[in-house]
Amino acid sequence: MPIDKKQIIEKEMAVVDGIELGPDWNRMFEQRVIFDYNTDTLDKVRDLEGAESIGACYQCGQCIPVCPVDAVGEYGPMRVFSDLLRGKDLFESDELWKCTTCMNCLRVCPKEVDMIKIMPAVREEAVMEGNVPDELQEAFENTFEYGNPLGESQRKRADWITETNSEVPLMKDKKEADLLWFVECYPAYHGRGKETSRDMATILNTLKADFGVLGTEEKCSCDSQRLAGEVGLFEEFAEQNIKTFSKYKFKQMLVTDPHALNALRKEYPKHGGEYDVIHYTTYLAPLMDKLNMTNKLDYKVTFHDPCYLGRHNGEYEAPRKILDAIPGVELVEMGRCKEQSYCCGGGGGGMWLDGFMSDHVNERLSENRVKEAVETGADLLVVCCPYEISRFEDAVKSTGNEGKLAVKDIAELIVEAMG
Ligand code: SF4
Ligand code: SF4
Repeated sequence: MPIDKKQIIEKEMAVVDGIELGPDWNRMFEQRVIFDYNTDTLDKVRDLEGAESIGACYQCGQCIPVCPVDAVGEYGPMRVFSDLLRGKDLFESDELWKCTTCMNCLRVCPKEVDMIKIMPAVREEAVMEGNVPDELQEAFENTFEYGNPLGESQRKRADWITETNSEVPLMKDKKEADLLWFVECYPAYHGRGKETSRDMATILNTLKADFGVLGTEEKCSCDSQRLAGEVGLFEEFAEQNIKTFSKYKFKQMLVTDPHALNALRKEYPKHGGEYDVIHYTTYLAPLMDKLNMTNKLDYKVTFHDPCYLGRHNGEYEAPRKILDAIPGVELVEMGRCKEQSYCCGGGGGGMWLDGFMSDHVNERLSENRVKEAVETGADLLVVCCPYEISRFEDAVKSTGNEGKLAVKDIAELIVEAMG
């Protein structure tokens, strides 16, 4: 770009360190505006409590290849950051809802740009303004009205118990137990989730565990609603659940859902509820020799690490130890496993955004993952998160892999081996 002569300042004479400089030597340029840009949209995000780290991005690009959404579309913190620099208003943009809070970007980011805090902070503002995709809004309203995102009656929360042959005691009857089993919504209401709950009850009874459930006293842990921006709803439900927990004596809290694990372990203490919370795989892994698994299963399996069990809560080994202990099961790992595990798309509100996401990605995250599982040659994709079983079973159908790959919860495999 040629220099505009008007920008050149030439003094008749200038003295620098006692040396006289004539006009040819004291030329200097006015401060030049190279391009006009303002940081208003970036500042609007950066100024929110929890979202400050977005400003630390220096666009190295390391987050892009690990972002599961970028694998099926275009996404990642770097792209969000550069959109903000270009003036895109994240509060009103569809980009706000694409992040599943899987945490894979934070794992590699040298500047610790933390989408797990940035997204809920910005989403909370958007929720207050009513800028929420319809299907997510419906899940929020269901949770508010019925105590669960599926919109099922609270009175039916314990119905799965009547459908099992195992004994499932209620805390309101026994008041005290070693384990308070927090069942959570999908394992209490969803068809496939209920099957896993029934198997879990069989396992606990075989182990002669002293446990109890809350039944209709239990409400959604609300972790995914919190991450999707409904912080007020989360706080209200946390307070109600904590009040219910306080009525009973228990040593440990057992959870079937990694999202509940995350809420109860990391978020409830901020509201006065501190518990020793354990995921069922962590609980069962050291007890496998106490289960009489006489049935030799003939399965080649692959295992999907749930984001909220693995990256968020550091448990990678327990499910693998369980699989190793089941007779006849051969585990083949997918390329993206453990810390680098791919995401099923259900976290951070994604569970209720499939319709919205279909306008933004070329395939569902769950479909991408199912294809990877099929490539291993496994007959079974094993999961240990209630979101995954329905997501992956749908994806098996939509990718035309019915008959090639089945999806089972790890508790189902244990019971099958018990005969
Ligand atoms: S890895 Fe971190 S610093 Fe690098 S581009 Fe991504 S968000 Fe920015
Ligand atoms: S948290 Fe996961 S989905 Fe969200 S931007 Fe990071 S890698 Fe992508």
